[in-house]
Amino acid sequence: MLKEMSDPNSELRYRFQCDLCSGPDWFGENLDAPAACTKCGRSPVRYFVADAAYCFLHRTLMRDTYTTSSGFLFAVFTWWGNEHLFPNAKLYMVPVDSDDPKDCITFQFCAMCEQAKQQWLKTV
Ligand SMILES: [Zn+2]
Ligand SMILES: [Zn+2]
Repeated sequence: MLKEMSDPNSELRYRFQCDLCSGPDWFGENLDAPAACTKCGRSPVRYFVADAAYCFLHRTLMRDTYTTSSGFLFAVFTWWGNEHLFPNAKLYMVPVDSDDPKDCITFQFCAMCEQAKQQWLKTV
């Protein structure tokens, strides 16, 4: 079977993601004026180019990762309500208190967002 011709513009497409609600990812061509989240109407938090994640705020490739556990779902964070200031910081850090490797979650983060979060934490 012949492989379907790929869309010549597909490389220009960005997959946008919103973290601040549970809305679905969406696609766009324009990084400077992307469509807003289809669910909550906010700007994207990150975007993907060929599955590589970038911080939308800083336009940086997020190479770094951190590890946490599912306990983050139940944690109370001081930054709540301010996450738009550093949307790709290490927001969901909780101590990995389990030896279960299945309860080990890896997130990508943006170093510049993390720096902004550290700065912000000093002010609270
Ligand atoms: Zn949203
Ligand atoms: Zn960032």
